[in-house]
Amino acid sequence: MIPEAALAALRAALGADAVITDPDRLAPWLVDERRLFSGRALAAVEPQSTAEVSAIVEICREQHVPMVPQGGNTSYCGAATPDASGRALLIRFPRLSRLRAVDALAGTLTVEAGMPLAAVQAAARDAGWFFPLSMGSEATAQLGGALSTNAGGLTVVRYGTARELVLGLEVVLPDGQVLSQLQALRKDNTGYDLRHLFMGAEGTLGIITAAVLRLFPEPAARETLLLNVRDAEAACACLNRARRTLGDTVESCEFFTREALALVLAHEAGARDPFAGEAPALLLLEIAGTFDAARMRDTLGELAANLLDEALAADVLIAESPTQRAAWWRLRERIPAAERAEGGSVKHDVSVPLGRIPELAALAVAGVRDRVPHIRCSVYGHMGDGNLHLNFLAPVGAVPEDFRATHGQALSADVHALAVRLGGSFSAEHGVGQLKRELLRATRSPVALGLMMRLKQAFDPDNLMNPGKVL
Ligand SMILES: Cc1cc2nc3c(=O)[nH]c(=O)nc-3n(C[C@H](O)[C@H](O)[C@H](O)COP(=O)(O)OP(=O)(O)OC[C@H]3O[C@@H](n4cnc5c(N)ncnc54)[C@H](O)[C@@H]3O)c2cc1C
Repeated sequence: MIPEAALAALRAALGADAVITDPDRLAPWLVDERRLFSGRALAAVEPQSTAEVSAIVEICREQHVPMVPQGGNTSYCGAATPDASGRALLIRFPRLSRLRAVDALAGTLTVEAGMPLAAVQAAARDAGWFFPLSMGSEATAQLGGALSTNAGGLTVVRYGTARELVLGLEVVLPDGQVLSQLQALRKDNTGYDLRHLFMGAEGTLGIITAAVLRLFPEPAARETLLLNVRDAEAACACLNRARRTLGDTVESCEFFTREALALVLAHEAGARDPFAGEAPALLLLEIAGTFDAARMRDTLGELAANLLDEALAADVLIAESPTQRAAWWRLRERIPAAERAEGGSVKHDVSVPLGRIPELAALAVAGVRDRVPHIRCSVYGHMGDGNLHLNFLAPVGAVPEDFRATHGQALSADVHALAVRLGGSFSAEHGVGQLKRELLRATRSPVALGLMMRLKQAFDPDNLMNPGKVL
């Protein structure tokens, strides 16, 4: 490859402004969110249309330039960071972020890949509907990134992961062809369902340029419950009871232990413990329904009484105001920031079948305490989806960097082996990227791995599309 020839062809196709080589502008795009990976790039391009993406891909194929699609760059596994060679072209989407169509009757949006998730939610609201994909990074993370990672987030327990919200997809393939399947069909059994190959592929099979999204009725009533529970086992029992009582209205189910809460209380100005130190663990339930608010409140009162009667929860609070609701959510959402403020943690994002969550939480904590007495365990996550973040911090007084360097690998090996032994996954929602490739190889069957390799080879024989990620 002659880099100058590739750059000249890109400038001719897109205009000089759309090809960025200024090191200061490139710098923030060359490191990942967690500062675990950094790389270099030939340049970054910011196409404005699917046709421009296709032109870029064709140039890269002709000139043998590897391509790294990058959305909001919030990946937790280095999935959007180029390698150190400096050969790759970053393809970014801030200018490919239009709302293409709204179908207010059917409840669908057609949206380009570069639109931030928060803006997709707002567009749905403007159309009188609700788009449920929501997570801590939603102001920055883009639709294309969220679909490529099959993101989870806060509402999976009710609405499913990102792939379940997509009816149609437009993708530029590694040879530059456009696969245009932007139909808004709930039913279409005409052969292989190709759209699902690209969701979760982390940009290794093609570049998503637009999607048709399913919308849902905006809930008329929303209530938030905070439960004081003994442990993960009691939390699972409470969730089970809530679902049986409230049906499909349980929208979020977040679990966090007192140790995780303590970190937030230490670092978040104004944070207050709702149970004044009494709760060994907390369960946050968000209930949203289209029926009337008074009826929902009555049913919640009955649920709370039952949970207390049966000693499944020691205390049940129902948020009295939007301010109180926001304060409780902040306790849960600020845990990662509090871990960082404390010097960082050894992080995990594992899933197991819901019924095995209690074993996962108990065995993981017991196991790491055997290895490192006084280790601090920040256990939290989207429990309703069988997903926990098991994050471990240095004992008080130990140097966080030394703790991670000495114990990080062994702790992660233990946690991942435990999750797999319980029938689970080493990466529930953050993906594989470049951080967890070895784990994929170690835990997937040869049959599954072989099929993945053959798919990659069929789509991208020159291995130019986000190389070094996933496989
Ligand atoms: C505070 C915080 C909270 C988070 N919470 C959650 C959570 O609850 N649930 C969850 O699942 N994740 C969570 N994440 C992780 C992250 O936000 C998600 O993985 C998100 O979906 C990534 O979107 P992005 O636009 O930033 O993608 P990027 O990080 O830019 O890229 C991610 C992957 O997608 C590929 N990609 C990007 N755009 C395209 C495209 N148009 N076509 C093809 N491939 C593309 C990239 O090459 C890369 O492989 C969180 C991250 C942070 C920082």
